[in-house]
Amino acid sequence: MKVFNHSKELNALKNKLSAKSIGLVPTMGALHKGHITLVEKALSENELVIVSIFINPTQFNNQDDLKNYPKTLESDLLKLKALENNIWVYAPEVSDVYSNSVTSKEYSFGLLESTMEGAHRKGHFQGVATIVQKLFEILKPTKAYFGEKDFQQLQIITSLVKQEQIPVKIIACPIIRHEDGLAMSSRNTNLSDKQRAIAPIIYETLQKAVALKEENSLEQIEIWITDFFNKHPEIELEYFTVAEEKTLQKVNHLNGEKTRAFIALKLGDVRLIDNVKF
Ligand code: AMP
Repeated sequence: MKVFNHSKELNALKNKLSAKSIGLVPTMGALHKGHITLVEKALSENELVIVSIFINPTQFNNQDDLKNYPKTLESDLLKLKALENNIWVYAPEVSDVYSNSVTSKEYSFGLLESTMEGAHRKGHFQGVATIVQKLFEILKPTKAYFGEKDFQQLQIITSLVKQEQIPVKIIACPIIRHEDGLAMSSRNTNLSDKQRAIAPIIYETLQKAVALKEENSLEQIEIWITDFFNKHPEIELEYFTVAEEKTLQKVNHLNGEKTRAFIALKLGDVRLIDNVKF
């Protein structure tokens, strides 16, 4: 395993190596099994795998959230080292990626961006697209791996690649969960013991919603979810939306298109998201 803080050094070595396939796994660190599964998939499909570890400032609409985001570079490197050795880690400083202008580029993602995470975190996806495009331009991967945990992000990146005609194949990877059903997330480490004990309720509720769909309208299910979380004062529901996978637009009736149920909520200060096929 090699660790680079500067893209210049990484690219100098990469040019000498001339690997036929390069898989990129962009992360913000605090690595868990969800990330490792992406890395393992990339290892199985590419000669060289680059894992970027970079907490991207432009995708945070809340400075406290950025400040509190877990930072565990040393243990992240140990986790990656335990895998195969054809992994390169790109862990840059902000200046190596953004020079001296730490701003988002302006993109137009239309309706894909105006709903759910885009609506609740203003500017978030502009920042995500900016960093992902930069990483694609710097590292020139053949394939890039993203988790369905951030399903809306996946659709935004797919749209980005199309719009900007970037020659990279986007690979979607399924959500990895803890045994109790909680979707793995770097943010879980910020939960108190009490909050962590409550958190499996998120996936349980999504599953219950799926079970209810046989005999209830979507409106009834939405009311049930809202009432359910109203009875849990430690949880603040931001949204529960059943939407088409492709367009991410909310559906009021199941129409035969592929749909997912998406949820975002806060447990204390920790904001968590999840989704399931619906
Ligand atoms: P992050 O470090 O949170 O920006 O995540 C980096 C990548 O890992 C993104 O493509 C995420 O969607 C993916 N990821 C995070 N958590 C999970 C999970 N539990 N299962 C699958 N992929 C995940």
